[in-house]
Amino acid sequence: MPTPNPTALPALTETRAFTPRVMRWGFGAVICVIVFITALSFWRVEVGNRAMHEITSHEQAMVEMLYRMQLASHERNFALFGAVHTDDPFVQDRETQRFYAQGATFGAARMQLEQLTLTEAERALLTQQHRQTTVLMPLQHRVIQFVESGQHAEAEKMMINQVVPAQTRMVGTLTTLLEEAIRRTHEHATARRKAQDRATILLIAGGLAGLLLTWGIFVLATRKMSGLVSHLTDASERLQASNLDLQFQKLALDEHNIVSITDTHGNITAVNDKFCEVSQYSREELLGQNHRLLKSGQQPDALFDDLWVTISAGKVWDGEICNQRKDGTFYWVASTILPFIGEDGVPSRYVSVRTDITTIKEAQQVLERSRNELEQLVQIRTGELAEREEVLHSITNAAQDAVVMIDAAGRVTYWNPAAELMFGFAEAEVAGKNLHELIVPERYLERAHAGFSRFAASGEGPSIGRTTTLRAKHRTGDEFPVDISLSAIKLRGQWSAVGIVRDATERVQIEERLKQLATTDTLTGLCNRRCFDGALAREIERAARFSSPLSLILFDIDHFKRVNDTFGHQTGDRVLTQLAVTVGNTIRTVDLFARWGGEEFVVLLPGSDLNAARLLAEKLRMALEKQPFSDVGQVTCSFGVAEYASGDNMDALIKKVDRCLYHAKASGRNRVETSATTPLPEDAEDRKQR
Ligand code: GH3
Ligand code: MG
Ligand code: MG
Repeated sequence: MPTPNPTALPALTETRAFTPRVMRWGFGAVICVIVFITALSFWRVEVGNRAMHEITSHEQAMVEMLYRMQLASHERNFALFGAVHTDDPFVQDRETQRFYAQGATFGAARMQLEQLTLTEAERALLTQQHRQTTVLMPLQHRVIQFVESGQHAEAEKMMINQVVPAQTRMVGTLTTLLEEAIRRTHEHATARRKAQDRATILLIAGGLAGLLLTWGIFVLATRKMSGLVSHLTDASERLQASNLDLQFQKLALDEHNIVSITDTHGNITAVNDKFCEVSQYSREELLGQNHRLLKSGQQPDALFDDLWVTISAGKVWDGEICNQRKDGTFYWVASTILPFIGEDGVPSRYVSVRTDITTIKEAQQVLERSRNELEQLVQIRTGELAEREEVLHSITNAAQDAVVMIDAAGRVTYWNPAAELMFGFAEAEVAGKNLHELIVPERYLERAHAGFSRFAASGEGPSIGRTTTLRAKHRTGDEFPVDISLSAIKLRGQWSAVGIVRDATERVQIEERLKQLATTDTLTGLCNRRCFDGALAREIERAARFSSPLSLILFDIDHFKRVNDTFGHQTGDRVLTQLAVTVGNTIRTVDLFARWGGEEFVVLLPGSDLNAARLLAEKLRMALEKQPFSDVGQVTCSFGVAEYASGDNMDALIKKVDRCLYHAKASGRNRVETSATTPLPEDAEDRKQR
């Protein structure tokens, strides 16, 4: 099934929402712009018209008044001429009346003119006209008086010489005023025409802007519409594809699933072929029947109660149901029942989709049986193991030796009562803790960790399968030796170590005692001959390797036989003991003092040459000579001193010193003789003779 493009639908919705929005707002804006510009233009035209009207009516009124004044002025003149040139008194009177009437007309027109809004120049011209009229009027009245008195010649003369020129000046002023008014009207008309033109341009521009905006909106909307159309086309194609997929899915569903539809009472209204195939009922047999037809009775009613409560509430129910075929055999289905909610909000029918899981169920039952059998077996084995553990536990509990087990991280996993006694820690205190941290002395800890890491990785180590003596630490901090036998066990892929630990304090003490006995002279407590031989061999090796000096003093008590003979053997023993103490106090700690045998002693002097050794021998000799020995009194000794020479072995060095001692004895006793003062060896007989 093609996956719908997740961005297509929002884009489509967006386009669908966007286009009417553009149309609505766009055209709204266009209408607003057009209405605004039109209103503005109309307003400007109206304002212009009104101004024009005002100007026109003002100018018209002004022109009319001026024209009336001119006309009245001319008429007065004509009336005056009429009165001057007639002898008929009636005509004279009529013309005089006309003259006055025209004067009133002139005056009324002038008054109206004065009320109009005039410019400075116009008002100045009007004032000028007033002055001229003031001059003209007495002249005209004079003419009338001449006429009334019958003096026509004077009247005519005055008319021609004074009234007509004054009249012409005054009318000239009115003409100038008229020209001024016309000029102003012309100016205003020009300004208004320009304003009118601007309003027209604005109107045209507004119209054009509206057209442009309309065109822009049209283009935008067209584009969006084409996007919408393409989206709709895509959506339609996808819908067709989805429809096809759905058909395939339905086919697949029918192929593998048992599908039925029931009404709210569980009466079957539709089934698919698979339903008929699995249940062995035909479609006709099933339609209209209640679903209970297939009930096997193998499952508790509570299950079905739960099913109905769930789906009646409009929820989906999932579960496994055992159904009965037409032939009475059972089959298992995994069911999903979906309620279809009607417009009233309650389920109107139920669609059940089931999968035949009979094979799985049978396999599960077989598995269940196997599992039960296995569980029984495990119980038996667990019992056996528990017994064995019990026995083992009794053994380790009763054992005198500590039995300790640690896992691959060195943590204690087993700790028997003997271990509690030996190390002073209760089992609860050590469980899970690092054994080495608890019982290995600080100075060995690093080595112990390193060794154990190697063991944990490989299960091997120099101590595995052997008994080793190590130093252990008690809870109090006291150290003691232990014999530890280690073995490796692999548990769940990881190496654990089991140690049987025995307190070796007693054994080590006995061993040390034995060792001491083997190397110590029992009478004097000095190092014995065996001990001395070992030390001499080591020192000769060191002197040879480092070319360091090494000397030897051998001394023998003079006439000791006599002491024994005179004071008894026990007194002789005391002399030997006392001598050992005196000499021990005189020599350096690095020097080794040993009993050579009988009443002969030897001092090994590492780092001392012949002279130093000789001086020491002399010092010893004098100390002994001065020392009063209890019961016996003075005892003297003879000393032989020799230095190690390159190539000397033990025998050679001992022979050398022995010869010196012999020489000291031979030279009168209570003296020191060195290899420098002793003649070269004659033969081995020397020693025998001594
Ligand atoms: P000199 O060495 O001066 O030649 O005379 P000497 O009497 O000491 O002779 P010699 O060295 O031959 O005799 C050693 C004597 O020391 C012999 C022995 O009875 C005595 N002697 C050896 N070992 C012991 C011992 O452990 N205890 C006692 N009391 N006497 C011992
Ligand atoms: Mg002696
Ligand atoms: Mg001797």
